[in-house]
Amino acid sequence: MKKENSITRKQALKFLTLGSVSTVIAPSLFTTSCAANGTMAGGYLNFDQIFNAVYPFSLAELPYSYDSLEPAIDARTMEIHHGRHHQGYVNNLNNALENRTELHEMTLSELNRNLNDLPDEVQNAVRNHGGGHLNHTLFWNTMHADGGTPTAELAGAIEDAFGDMNGFREAFTEAAGTVFGSGWAWLVSDSEGGLQIVQTANQNNPLTSGLIPLFGIDVWEHAYYLNYQNRRGDYIGAYLDLIHWEKVSEIYSESL
Ligand code: MN
Repeated sequence: MKKENSITRKQALKFLTLGSVSTVIAPSLFTTSCAANGTMAGGYLNFDQIFNAVYPFSLAELPYSYDSLEPAIDARTMEIHHGRHHQGYVNNLNNALENRTELHEMTLSELNRNLNDLPDEVQNAVRNHGGGHLNHTLFWNTMHADGGTPTAELAGAIEDAFGDMNGFREAFTEAAGTVFGSGWAWLVSDSEGGLQIVQTANQNNPLTSGLIPLFGIDVWEHAYYLNYQNRRGDYIGAYLDLIHWEKVSEIYSESL
């Protein structure tokens, strides 16, 4: 498949503001093909387990051992990040919702999507810790030491949005590298299945802006500082080789 209209990088790289979310789009010519192959590893959560859990929330075991993503992400970072940081988000979210029984039937994605309609008293806690729980659950489950390639369906959407995989990598690297302070860069799907790359600050989640996160990179320093110190660019490059494209394809398909 060919993309008919190519535009310059300068024209293509633009940040659009969607509430707290910025957008980067960088189409370029499609030069490589992507095919679905490989097998799913055991232990990964499915779409419902990631997005549709309800109170009381719990921290799932990682789908792999702490050291399985080395050298890209070191075991000590994984242990602290999952066992302390993520556990903290889960605990704080549960504490915030403990006495709000009217919210106990809302799924994690509904809490994030409807954040601005939640009672004032719990909005900040759900934004920070509900977002933190969903963001990290998605993060663990969309990494793999050998994540395969996108399905034809997702590859086509990447082609439409970014031209090819290199165009995607370039745009994602730019977005992840320019998050100021703590936050995330995401590949998201809109309601039509179109892909965008967006940034969120802190633990904000793209669902709050009506977008569906397919995967995101955590660029809080706790995610990489032990191994990379200030070299965020090296961490981003290593992360891009860990994307679990088979799981991401499944999430994309389920989101349509
Ligand atoms: Mn984190």
